[in-house]
Amino acid sequence: MMTTYKQRYFTVQVRTAKFGGSSLASPEQFKKVYDIVMADPTRRYVVASAPGKRFPEDTKVTDMLYACYDMAVAGLDFELFFDGIKARFDEIIAGLGLGLDLSREYESIKESFRLGSGRDYAASRGEYLNSIILARYLGYDFIDAAEVVFFREDGTLDEEHTYKTLASVLRMHERAVIPGFYGSMPNYTVRTFSRGGSDISGSIVARASGSDIYENWTDVSGFLMADPKIVREPLGIKVVTYRELRELSYMGAGVLHEDSVFPVRSAGIPIVIKNTNRPDDEGTTIVAGTDIYDREHIITGVAGKKNFSVIRIDKDRMAYRRGMLHRIVEILDYNGVHAEHIPSGIDTMSIVAHTEQLTGKYDTLIESIRRAVDPDYIGIEDDLALIAVVGRGMVGSPGVAARVFDALAKASINVRMIDQGACEINIIVGVSSADFEDAVRVIYHEFVRR
Ligand code: ASP
Repeated sequence: MMTTYKQRYFTVQVRTAKFGGSSLASPEQFKKVYDIVMADPTRRYVVASAPGKRFPEDTKVTDMLYACYDMAVAGLDFELFFDGIKARFDEIIAGLGLGLDLSREYESIKESFRLGSGRDYAASRGEYLNSIILARYLGYDFIDAAEVVFFREDGTLDEEHTYKTLASVLRMHERAVIPGFYGSMPNYTVRTFSRGGSDISGSIVARASGSDIYENWTDVSGFLMADPKIVREPLGIKVVTYRELRELSYMGAGVLHEDSVFPVRSAGIPIVIKNTNRPDDEGTTIVAGTDIYDREHIITGVAGKKNFSVIRIDKDRMAYRRGMLHRIVEILDYNGVHAEHIPSGIDTMSIVAHTEQLTGKYDTLIESIRRAVDPDYIGIEDDLALIAVVGRGMVGSPGVAARVFDALAKASINVRMIDQGACEINIIVGVSSADFEDAVRVIYHEFVRR
């Protein structure tokens, strides 16, 4: 059964558009960004990444900056290397015919490198310089993120200070470009988010500016319902909830920085993933609730990963013995093993973890658990692949799990493990690694008919 997809439009007054590194890697990419921004006057706030890769073997400017700074700290001559970084920006400036001269900026950055300004400061210069160029090219104001994004002493975002300052500064600028990835510490030194953190900056700007939409422009047209390396030409996901996305991205579908959803989610601002190279593609909209969006398929996506192991523990009436789970989890913790899933029955419990976390610890774990809970059986099996079938459409839709298992059975794929979260938006199936790709295809085609 399929329901038709429709989106009821709401009026958009302000958008924040964040452009990732590949969208701003060359003059040609800058021109696409220009057309996108100019096409809609509501794109008033633009957040920029540093120039990314122009071709697969290329190096991101951020990586060049880290390497250059490391040379400076090691007391090596980094002039020549820095020239390579300058060349990336000068190529863009020349290609756009901007007549912008950044030589004073370059000199002051080099000087700071010599004075040991910190790796974060070094890395942040990619976003900083690229945003100066983009602001000039678009005719937008430039706002330095160091003056509007603040971290606390412990390195977490100082939300109160940031939102208050940023909102009041943005009000003074009708249109502006803000560099992503960094902000400043209480002692005014520059600090960055973790890698890919411009996504977070974009989210913060979207919230502080009261944007109706946070557009995240990248080099893919949003999320697909399955991995295109496994399923041929999978359909795109038009609308996904934050909850579903977490289930899917945990399984390896990451396009967005994990932490970038929090600022906009709490403000109810949808994120739209768009492709700079194919701006007319619909992309994926990420929303908190789906009341204004109808769903298209019962499942939203299917994603998975290999290389899991299961520790199986059997003991009579295990479910009724107090403290057993607690003792087992303590042993796992102590050995640095994080349980991804713990599907359990009355007499049995399975602990699913990444195989690499168990490597070299099999005997210790078995021995410790044996001593702690005296099981009737304990064993570890490898080569498990986990597949998450995710969909808000599954809630209250009986028979979805049955369809998954039927389809797998018909394809003679043995299901080694099942787990369903209480929230009912996902079913996790464990199959042998050798069956992984087939299982993903079978499940996908069960719900998406050719
Ligand atoms: N330029 C930074 C990085 O490469 C941040 C970003 O692009 O989001 O991680």
